[in-house]
Amino acid sequence: MKLICPVCHTPLESSEHSVCCVNRHSFDYARSGYLNLLNRPAPGAGDNAGMVQARTAFLSTGAYAFLKEEIIKILKEEPVEVFVDLGCGEGTYTSGCPGKEKYGFDLSKQAINYAAKHDKTTQYAVASIFHLPLENACADAVLTCFAPVAGEEIARITVPGGRFVLVSPGEMHLYEMKQVLYDAPYKNELSSPSIAGMEKEKELQIEQKFSVDHSSLQSLIQMTPYAYHTGKEGLARLSQVEQMELTASFQLQVFRRHY
Ligand SMILES: [Zn+2]
Repeated sequence: MKLICPVCHTPLESSEHSVCCVNRHSFDYARSGYLNLLNRPAPGAGDNAGMVQARTAFLSTGAYAFLKEEIIKILKEEPVEVFVDLGCGEGTYTSGCPGKEKYGFDLSKQAINYAAKHDKTTQYAVASIFHLPLENACADAVLTCFAPVAGEEIARITVPGGRFVLVSPGEMHLYEMKQVLYDAPYKNELSSPSIAGMEKEKELQIEQKFSVDHSSLQSLIQMTPYAYHTGKEGLARLSQVEQMELTASFQLQVFRRHY
């Protein structure tokens, strides 16, 4: 086990119902199997139950399955002992990723509970990706998919020579939806974080069209930031749409930790 105590940062040992450090800080496994390793409560943080539901409903349509395949393909280019997913949500991508020992972290208790119920190959934990309860240099593959980049922590937990895979929206991601929502739709700006101790090795864009019906479109908007940053008129226009052809576009970047 690579987990450390969120209070005193010493290694955690696992027993039947809980994990515990030498200083006797103890954390119980939830019924579904996840751990809550959040040092201090973060009120209102993480995605709520509604967003979790919308996301699982939409992702079950398989519209983003090609992204999952691409992530797995990249990770499998090298053997993976310890895999870590930062901002793993419901474990949609985590569950298929390679690794003898796998960890998924997210702030949302609802999302983590769902992930732990559906994927028994991974130890899921509620934790901040900016204060990870993980040992130094323990992971040879780290993934962040549609979540903020916790650069310092990523460099800290990655073994020398290990990889970090970052997935973010591509330029044209859901552009057709934005054409309905906004008077002046914009393309996504592509960016590349600079992470001390790591170097970018590879970058690719992948794209696929998919069509959505009315209910999948409503789920989709619920799981994106657009739901909160769009005027009522735009949302009303979108609610009239019965069927739509959309572009799913993703940018994948691979970074490697210096030896
Ligand atoms: Zn402790």
